[in-house]
Amino acid sequence: MSTPTKTFALLLSFTWLAGAVSGQTQVDPKTAIRMLNSQQHQFEQAIVQVADNIYTAVGYHGANTSMIVGTDGVIIIDTLRGPASAAKAAEAFRKYSDKPVKAIVYTHSHGDHTGGASAFVGSEKPDIYATKGFGSATGLNKAVGPIGMKRGARQFGRNLSPAESTNRGVAPASTTDHDGGKGYLSPTVTVPGSGLKTTIAGVDIEFHIAPGETDDAMFIWLPSEKVLFSGDNFYHSFPNLYAIRGTPYRDVLTWSESVAEMAEFRPNVLVPGHTMPIRGEEASTTALKDYSEAIRSVYDQTILGINAGKSPGQIAHEVKLPEHLKDKPYLIQFYGSVPHAVRAIYSGLLGWYDGNPTTLNPLAPKQQAEKMAELAGGTQRLTEQMQVVLEKQDYQWALELSDHVKWLDDADRKLARQVKIAALRGLAAREYNAPNRNYYLSYANDLESGRLSDIWF
Ligand SMILES: [Zn+2]
Repeated sequence: MSTPTKTFALLLSFTWLAGAVSGQTQVDPKTAIRMLNSQQHQFEQAIVQVADNIYTAVGYHGANTSMIVGTDGVIIIDTLRGPASAAKAAEAFRKYSDKPVKAIVYTHSHGDHTGGASAFVGSEKPDIYATKGFGSATGLNKAVGPIGMKRGARQFGRNLSPAESTNRGVAPASTTDHDGGKGYLSPTVTVPGSGLKTTIAGVDIEFHIAPGETDDAMFIWLPSEKVLFSGDNFYHSFPNLYAIRGTPYRDVLTWSESVAEMAEFRPNVLVPGHTMPIRGEEASTTALKDYSEAIRSVYDQTILGINAGKSPGQIAHEVKLPEHLKDKPYLIQFYGSVPHAVRAIYSGLLGWYDGNPTTLNPLAPKQQAEKMAELAGGTQRLTEQMQVVLEKQDYQWALELSDHVKWLDDADRKLARQVKIAALRGLAAREYNAPNRNYYLSYANDLESGRLSDIWF
C-alpha cells in the first residue's frame, strides 16, 4: 500500500517544539495535521476486491466487513457496529453477489465488529461462528461503566465539532452509532480452542485462535485464495496495546505471538479489522513479522526496565520502537502509543505499585499542592509560574502546575482551569496520535462547559 506517512515520520527528528515534550507523538501542529490527514485514505469508503471471490467494505463504519463468495452462498466476516451502516455495506456487496448468506464470522467480540449482523441476513438462518469464550473478559467491568462511557467518548472524540475532528487513527472521525449493537446475532457455532477447518458454501476456511486485542480473537485463513483476515490484531497503526478509555490488561506477549503465527501463513492478501488490505505475499508477510517484532520489542524493553527496578514513568520515557521499524507505515503511532503500552504492561504484570517506598503512601494531592505553593513562594507565585509556562508553550508542565493550583483554597481556580484548557488545546494541536488528540480536545471542552468544575476528571 502507499506510504505517505513514512515521509512525515522522517520529519519527526527535525521538529523543534517549545517546552518539554513528554510523549512520542508530538510534532509541530502543521506536521501533526498533515500526518493525520495522510492516514485518511486508510478508511475512505470503498469496496476493495481482494481476490476473485472476496470483497472488503472499508469505511462503511469504523471497522471492515468482508464477503467471500462461494458456490451456493456467501460468508460474511465481521458485521460493523449497527444495522444502518451494515445495510449499506450489504447493499454494496449485493452488486457482486446475491447468493444467500451461509455463515457469519466474528473475528472477536468488540461491538464495532458484531453489532450489524442482522443487516446481512434475509430469511435465511446462517451459522454464526465465534470462539469458545466469545465475549468473556474483554470488556470493562460494568461497575465502571459510567466513567468508561465518558472516557470512550473522549478517546473517540464523539462530541467534538467538525472543526476539531480529524479521525480516530484507524477509523473515520464520525460514524453512525445510534443503533450500535442493535443487529447483533448470537453465535451458533463455537470454534474450539484447537481451531477449526471446514468448508462453507464450497469455500475451504480455517479458524485459528489468536488472542491479542481481546482474549476471544481468532484469525481466518482461506488456504485456496491465500487470504488472511486478522481481525484487530493487525491494522495500519502501532497497535492499541492499551486503550485510554480504560481497558483491562491486553496480553501483549500473546498478541505478539498471535501475529507471528499469522506471518507463518505468508498470505497473498492481508485483510485487517480496520484500514486497507495489504496485497502481495512479501508485503503482507513482512508487515506481520514487523508488527509482531514491534510488539515484542516494546514488551521486552519494558520487562528489562521492570527487572532493573525502574518505575513505569521512567520506562515509558525510555522505550522506543527499533530504528528499522519505527517509520513503517503500519507502525506509526496513530492509534496505539508506545509509552501507554509500557505503562499497561507494567500494571498488567505487577499492578499499580512501582516498588519505590516513596510511593507506598504519598501525600494527598491537596497536601502536595500546598507544599508546591510553599516551595514556589506562595500561591500567587505558583499561579504566575503556571501562566509563564503556558506562555512559553510548555504545555505539559502548565497542565501539571494547573493541577496543583486548582487544589489551593486561596487560588484563582477559574484561572487554573483556563490555563488547563489552553494547555490541552496546545498539546492537542501537536498530537498525531488520534486518541491523545481527541482526548485533550474533548477534555478541554468538558472543562469549558463547566461540567468538570469540581472534579477535573
Ligand atoms: Zn475494531
